[in-house]
Order: sequence, then C-alpha cells, then structure tokens
Amino acid sequence: MTAYTPMIQQYLGIKEGAQDAILFFRLGDFYEMFFDDAINASRELEITLTGREGGGDKKIPMCGVPYHSADNYIARLIEKGFKVAICEQVEDPSAAKGVVRREIIRVVTPGTVMETKSLADKANNFIVAASILGGVFGVAACDLTTGELYVTSFAATAESLYDEVNVYHPSELVGDTEALEMLRPAATTWNRPVLFTERTPMDRQRLSEQFSELELDALAPARHRAVSLLIGYLDETQKRSLGHVRRISVYEPNQYMILDPFTRRNLELTETVRDRNKKGSLLWLLDRTRTSMGARLLRRWIDKPLLSKSAIDERLEAVDKLYHSFILRDELRQELNEIYDLERLVGRVAYGSANGRDLNALKTSLQHVPALTALCRDSESDTLNKLVDGVDACADLAEMIETVIVEEPPVSVREGGLIRAGYDSYLDELREASVNGKKWLAELERREREATGIKSLKIGYNKVFGYYLEVSKANIGMLPEGRYERKQTLTNAERYVTPELKEKETLILEAEDKMVDLEYAKFVELRDHLTAHLHRLQKLAEVIAALDVYQSHATVSGEQRYVKPNVTDSYNFVVREGRHPVVEAVMEGSAFIANDTTLVKDEGQASMLLITGPNMAGKSTYMRQVALISIMAQIGCFVPAKHAEVPLIDRIFTRIGAADDLIGGQSTFMVEMKDIQIMTEKATAQSLVIIDELGRGTSTGEGMAIAQAVIEFVHHEVGCKALVSTHFHELAHLSETLPHLANACMAVQETGDNVTFLRKLVPGAAGSSYGIYCAQLAGLPGSITERAYSLLELHTSQEDAAAVAWKSPTRMQQQAAESAVKYAAPALEEVQLPPVPVVEEQPVVLPLSSG
Ligand code: ADP
Repeated sequence: MTAYTPMIQQYLGIKEGAQDAILFFRLGDFYEMFFDDAINASRELEITLTGREGGGDKKIPMCGVPYHSADNYIARLIEKGFKVAICEQVEDPSAAKGVVRREIIRVVTPGTVMETKSLADKANNFIVAASILGGVFGVAACDLTTGELYVTSFAATAESLYDEVNVYHPSELVGDTEALEMLRPAATTWNRPVLFTERTPMDRQRLSEQFSELELDALAPARHRAVSLLIGYLDETQKRSLGHVRRISVYEPNQYMILDPFTRRNLELTETVRDRNKKGSLLWLLDRTRTSMGARLLRRWIDKPLLSKSAIDERLEAVDKLYHSFILRDELRQELNEIYDLERLVGRVAYGSANGRDLNALKTSLQHVPALTALCRDSESDTLNKLVDGVDACADLAEMIETVIVEEPPVSVREGGLIRAGYDSYLDELREASVNGKKWLAELERREREATGIKSLKIGYNKVFGYYLEVSKANIGMLPEGRYERKQTLTNAERYVTPELKEKETLILEAEDKMVDLEYAKFVELRDHLTAHLHRLQKLAEVIAALDVYQSHATVSGEQRYVKPNVTDSYNFVVREGRHPVVEAVMEGSAFIANDTTLVKDEGQASMLLITGPNMAGKSTYMRQVALISIMAQIGCFVPAKHAEVPLIDRIFTRIGAADDLIGGQSTFMVEMKDIQIMTEKATAQSLVIIDELGRGTSTGEGMAIAQAVIEFVHHEVGCKALVSTHFHELAHLSETLPHLANACMAVQETGDNVTFLRKLVPGAAGSSYGIYCAQLAGLPGSITERAYSLLELHTSQEDAAAVAWKSPTRMQQQAAESAVKYAAPALEEVQLPPVPVVEEQPVVLPLSSG
C-alpha cells in the first residue's frame, strides 16, 4: 500500500467506501477507472484498457471516459445493472496543496438515475424497499425523478410480497435480507436485471428531516421500517437533500384489485407475453394521453384497479362528460399538448440539475393551467370541478421565471446569457461595462488603423494572451518602432499589446467574469426559490395528470365505441355484446365477433361456465375479454360492449397457458397446480377465476379428475364467478349436478371438408373437440389421424363409465386415454392452422350432448 503514489492511495481510500460500485474518479477532463473497475468497465463499455504507473510493482489497469460524455457511459453501465460512484475534485486544483481533495458526490444506481437518457418518459422508475417486522411485510416504492413515494404493509406471505413489489416493475430493490431472499427467485421473471441491496434502517433523526413527525408517527411499524430503509439508501447514495420527496402516500393493499404477476402478464396489461413490448398491450391501446405525467398515471391506474365503487363512479362521471363532449375533449387535448413533464421538471429542480430551458418549460406549462382549469369548470362534470376546485395554478412562480430568465436561454447555466436585462441593476451595470469596453476596443481598432495606415490591423482575443492587436507580416514595415509591445509571433502575423489595452482588458474581463458569476448566482437564487415551492408544483402536476387520463379514457372510449359500465356492489356480471379490446383493435374492419356474458347466482342461471370447443375457436380470447372488461371498468374507463353491468371484482386469477415458458425448469403441470393452490387459498366470492385448459399436462384420466375436483371446489367452497375451458368435453355432465355451472361452447360450422370458427359463444357443450380434424387439416399423415380416430372411438365408448368410475381407471382405459393425448394433443397445440374465413351468418349450434 505504502508503495503507491499519493493519488492512488487517495483512490484506494475512496474506493473503500464504494465497494459495490464502479468508481468514476475525476482526473482533469476525464473520469478514470482503476484496477478491477477498469477491467470490468472496459469490457462492458468496449473501451481501451491501458495501464498507469502508480508506485506498485506492476502497472495499474486503467481506463477512462471524457467528462463531457460521461452520461452516456454511466447510462450504459446502469442498464447492465451496475452502480456508478461519481468522485469529483472538491477543491480548486490551483489552491490545493498536494493531491487535490476528492469525494464521492453521488452514487448512480438503476433505481436512482435522474438523467433523461436512461429513463422512459412514459413509465415510472421505481426503487422499492421491502422489510419484514413481526410477521408483517412493509413495501415502500419511490420514483426519485418525480418524488412519488408509496407505502403499504400486509400480513406476510411470499406471494403477497411478490405481488405487491411486482406492481411497481422495480428497477432496484433494497431492504431486509429475509425479505429480499423471498423476492430473489421472482427476479428471474422480470425483464431486466434488478439490483438487490441489503440495508439496515436509518435513524429516526435523519428521517424526520425528510418528513414531518406527524407523518412518521402515523406509519405502522412495518411501513416505517420500509420507508426508513428506502430513505436511508437514497440518502447514502444521493448525498443531497431530497426536497421533492416530502409526501408519503400510504395505502392499504385491499384498496386495489389484486392481480398476481402471471395474471398481469397473461392479460397483457402493460406488456405483451410474446416480446414484452408495450405495443399490443391494454396500456398501449388505452394510452391517448398527451403528457408523460398522464401516461405514467394511466399505467399506475392499470396496475392498480380500484375497489371502491364511489371512487370508480367518480372517474366514470368525468369520462362520461368528456365522452359526450368532443369539443371539450379536443380543447383539453390541445392545452395538454403545451404542458411539459412537470413532475420530472420538479425532480430536476430539486436535484439542482434544472437549467434555464427547464425553467422556461415549467413556465410555459404553468401559463396553460388557467385555460385547463377554466375548461374543467365549464365542463358540468362534478369530478372535474372538484379536481380543479381551489387548485393552485402557481402563477406567481411562472411570473417569477418570466421576469428572471430570457426567452431563449443557453443549455449551460454557468456561461451567462440567461438572465433578463432589467432584472438586477448590478448585473445591468456590469453588462454596460462590458458593452462599453467592447465599444472602446472597436474605437481603438479604428484609431490605430488610421494612425498606422494599416487597414488590416485588427483586435483579437484568446484565452492565453487576452486581447491583442494583430498586424500581418506584410504590413509590419509600416508599424512605427516601439509603438506596441510584441507578445506573440505567428507565421503570418505578429500580435502586440499596449499598456492601455491591458488596462481595459482587465476591466472587461473582470466585468465578464463577474457577470457570469452573478448570472449563475441569480439563477440559483431562482431555483432555490422554486425548490421551496415544489410541493405546490407537485400537487398541480397530479391534477394535470389525472385530467389527462380522463381525457385519454374518454378519447379511446369514443374512438372504439365503448360504453359506460354500470359498476355495482352486487354479485352479477352481465355484459351484452362484449369484445376483447385489443384483439378487436388490431383486427381489420369490424371483424370481431361480440359475445354476451352472464355470470349470476340467480335460480336457474350460472356463475360458472365450462367452455368447450376446438383449439382456435376463441375460448381464451373470450375469457380474457371478461377479465379485461372488469379491469377497464375498475380503472374508470368505458368498456368494449353494448351494455355492461359489472360488480366489483376483488381479485382475478388466471391460469392461461401462454406464460408457461417463463418458468424454466418447472413442468407446466406443476405450475398449474401451484397457481391453483394459491387460488384455492386466496379466492373469495368476489373474485373472478379464469382457467384455460384445466387439467392438461397430465394423463387424461388424472387431468379430468383434477379438473372436476377443482371445479367442484370453486363451485362449493369459493362461490366466485369462474370461466373454465377444457378439452375434456366429457366434463359437461357436471352441469347436471352443479347448479351454478353451465356448459357453453364456441360454435363451429362444418361444411364438407371445411370447419368455420364462428367465434360465437353458445349454450351447451361441444360434441367433439375437432382436435383430430384440426390435425388432419394441418397435414399430419393419414396413418396417424386414422389411428387417432379409432383410439378416440375406443375412449368414447368407455366414457360413461369413466365419468363415474375414474378414480380407479382400468389399466387399459388409462393407456387408451394416454395415447390419445399423446398423439392428438401436441399436434393441436403447436400447429398453426391455415386461416379460416369467418362466416357472418347466425351460428350453427352444434350437437349439445356431451358426446
Ligand atoms: P382458443 O383459446 O379457443 O384456442 P383463441 O381465443 O386463442 O382460441 O382464438 C384464436 C384466434 O381467433 C385469436 O387469435 C383471434 O384472432 C381469433 N378470435 C378469437 N375470438 C374472436 C372473436 N370473438 N372475433 C373474431 N376473432 C376472434
């Protein structure tokens, strides 16, 4: 150690405090990395690895990036899941004795990036803390770019912790070791590397500098712990006051519909299953927001559907008014177009990274607020009126920015040119001095040209020599001896100064230096003033974001011909001509076939449907559609239907095949059973259960047995609304003994050699699954399909017996069933059938018997 040079020793000391980060060590105009950091960073960033003498036996590995383009490199490292500690020189090198003092001024981590390059405008970037205290989990989530902070807690189970954390799509997790360990397996299913950091809570003293005592006292212990873990980490990494993280939004998990991560994915709420893209998701379809704040809020609404009828009705009321007034909607959209991302502007102000242009964007946005609020007041919507009632438009802040900042300020805040004339009299004086000085220079140039007769004599400036008089070589002969003092010789010219010029130069440069410093000081003064009013701006941003989502809901509802749902406290779910919003939207023309849904507990009606029908008939589209209509209603949006009466659903369980591939290593069947186990434990009568192809993945006999047992359980023990699809049409007999279960099937029309999917849900069970027929269409060899037909016959003839006696199927039954599945099922699942024309006529109802 002692062998190292003082600078490397300093480096090692600082690195000690940033073991888990890559240390960017400022050296002049570069950030240098040394030792292992250099090896890692040069590999990740594809930059050259060099070496540096540092006093040791060997050269020290080193690589570096220029200071001015560091943001790019930092962003790339963050994306790859690294932390980057930024170490700056914290004293003036010219004043330093020995090695310049350096300190880490901030640690950039995936959950705490503020640089726009690394952030998606339309999505929050949450860092989440998870704690566990006395069997209770606490979860705190913060978006540092906007200052939002959400906190909740709940009785501990690993699933609920996973569900809750997943809602935030976190980019980073901190917390108690135990809680993080529970989340670790889940992290493999997220679509980016998530950084985990174990932490201990910070002390109360520091926490109370961030929040009011009142707010902290109101937090239950587990929540307090989660907040404390989170703020402790932010404090340690950001090393600055977080002026915009001042409000703790506490919520109870039962305020929102519970959607487990698989259900979110299966229903493609914010990203598609196939390529995890927003395009093709419900969010993609619904997003007609005009501002990034609105887009982020819409995403949060979709992530957290409401469970309070009054809150949903409030949203629907606003959407309804906007839905019916195209003009109002249009005017709102135009005003919203002019509004910048207030939330993130606020974040940058708090961080001290806002520049003149940011403040002007803030100003422009604020100037459009009065028009927005006026539109709301005129809207006759109670919700919109309430939203803007007493809203603080922050006009004083806009005015202040207007008086201080010029119309088109430069990007830099340290080079002057951003403060308006007339704002500060001393600044005006300095400007005057500088302008006069320049006039004097022009006058000197004119005078000297005249006196010497050298027309090309000119006055110039450079950083090293200051102002000078320049005479080209050709004219030097004309210059009287001793008139000027020679300063610099160039190939084609000589440069001179005079005592008078040097004197003026001092005045001019002093004025300019002072001017730049003063401008910066005035700018910071303004920014600090704004910092003291951030909470006002944040409140206003919330109002604007909500307004934007209302108009977005109304716009999409108008465009897609949705209807206002009647959200009820009752049990019944009744939808006329419902559609799948996304499938419909991506289909050309009006090809989507609407279907009714009636799930009620009345005498003679059913709350559970057992849906049969061939593959590709539209079963899973239909089931997803029911779930999506519920979710859309509960986020306060209109729904794709002619008429919709929807109850509050507390939780949706889906078990739909598409996400199987996600969980490497586990068999499809095992995953299905695990999901069903959770469903049996958590579902209530207010839940909605959707299971696609219940019982597949094991032998026919077992599959059917399990399917029947699960259906019976949901029917007797849970009593919730449920849609179950199965290719065991033999299960249709269940409806005879289960009063709340009805059979339904997707109608198919057979004409000669053709099967037409009518996409229409009709009562009764499908007579045959058409599986072998589909296999035939797909071109499987005749020997296989013929064999399959004969096996099917054999199986069918044993079916009646199987329906009652399948607890102990005979060996032969089992074999027959297994081989039928082995031959038919994989082909059906994997083969893409040729497109079949949809017939527009009334559906043909197939034979309704169970075979
Ligand atoms: P299944 O679950 O029965 O195998 P899907 O629900 O996956 O069938 O539907 C297959 C395809 O049929 C979908 O990709 C969609 O394009 C189309 N489809 C489904 N339902 C409808 C409908 N109601 N109207 C028009 N097309 C539909």
